[in-house]
Amino acid sequence: MSYCLANVEGRAALVADGHWYDLESVSGGGLGPDPMMALAAPERLGELTAALGQHDPSGSIEPERLGPPVPRPRNVYAIGLNYQAHADEGAMEVPANPLVFTKFPSCLVGPAAEVELRSDAVDYEGELVVVIGPGGKDIEPDDAWDHIVGLMVGQDISDRAVQFASKPPHFDLGKSFDTFGPTGPVMVSPDAVDRDRLRIVTEVNGEVRQDGTTEQMIFDVPTLVSYLSRVTTLSTGDLIFTGTPDGIGITQGKVLADGDVITTHIDGIGTLANRCVRSSDHGVC
Ligand code: ZN
Repeated sequence: MSYCLANVEGRAALVADGHWYDLESVSGGGLGPDPMMALAAPERLGELTAALGQHDPSGSIEPERLGPPVPRPRNVYAIGLNYQAHADEGAMEVPANPLVFTKFPSCLVGPAAEVELRSDAVDYEGELVVVIGPGGKDIEPDDAWDHIVGLMVGQDISDRAVQFASKPPHFDLGKSFDTFGPTGPVMVSPDAVDRDRLRIVTEVNGEVRQDGTTEQMIFDVPTLVSYLSRVTTLSTGDLIFTGTPDGIGITQGKVLADGDVITTHIDGIGTLANRCVRSSDHGVC
């Protein structure tokens, strides 16, 4: 059964028809307010969603009140160069195995949060983000979707100067500045969308910069889940940023500037809209 989960000012909420319903309230106290705890009860989320007609909504969705649907994952994995055209635009070789890095969980923000630019080399990357439900180790690709509780839109914001400050490059730091992980606006159950064919469109100030589909992934979602689980035990709430299509800013000389608004949309999940604010220089490189 499908469901749509949001984080409304820190409280878990189910979403239907543009309205939110406080999860603790509609579950009669059976589920608490912590969005992290809700991830462990997907069947209950489906049952409660089917019965939302019995309840009055708590309010209308206001994006600025939404936090990241998964606010405190233990780990946030991310995949580099997972689309052929994106590898080509950077003149990079397509990896023989998934190119894995991490984003520090502290970079996560909500769907309408401001993104803080601390240099003139910051870039956008619109991505599908996978949320792990039941954890596991050595997961077979055929079983991988059973370990996924939801899907979100994500922005893998990247300070290219810091990302490539050293050789060989070290992705984690340049992609983990505070505010560099907008996610949301909600987390939908995989059965609520066409999970293998999701179109990802990123615009900056209304100009389309990226327009791809997850069908173009080099390593698909089951392969990524299985690959990671051979190394590390995946836990409920872990996130995987699954890579970005072509059209990033750095290769076009179109890095982010003060006041730019990045919108990232995936059909059936929703839209992030994040305004950039240029602040002091980080002084790292
Ligand atoms: Zn990325």
